[in-house]
Amino acid sequence: MMLPFTEENLEEVHRHALQEYPYECCGIIAGTPGNNEDNRLYRCTNIQNELHQKDPGTFVRDARTAFYIDPRELMSIFKEARNGGRVVKVFYHSHPEHDAYFSEEDRRMALFDNEPTYPEVCYLVVSVYDRKVAGQALFAWNASTQSFEKLNSESLHL
Ligand SMILES: [Zn+2]
Repeated sequence: MMLPFTEENLEEVHRHALQEYPYECCGIIAGTPGNNEDNRLYRCTNIQNELHQKDPGTFVRDARTAFYIDPRELMSIFKEARNGGRVVKVFYHSHPEHDAYFSEEDRRMALFDNEPTYPEVCYLVVSVYDRKVAGQALFAWNASTQSFEKLNSESLHL
């Protein structure tokens, strides 16, 4: 399959993941489907630590094992992407000190009423151990199995 991002995009995701370590980074890649030439990467702010501090009962995890994007930031990125003729292709985030799997929490966040909120968007998860990128995996919604499945791609070095 053709990846929805360039090698350069992936390197930028790695830089972001290392900068946010030991916390999770999160962001968006938008562009034209089937063409990565005009891809644009948006770093998002992970506000999970703030939420956890204000309301630890609801936001049990801190930003080491969770991320949360302010809906206003999300909407403004969506709007900017749309105004530039781009669609959202990838949501990315990192897993500090954990492998690049699609966690139960990731699944819960990506679903609304058991349906994927963004069925056409891929999810890129980058694993970071000890301040080094240890690997990554890309996940997409599979309508026939009704689950997020890992996409196999040689260019992701999996
Ligand atoms: Zn995750």
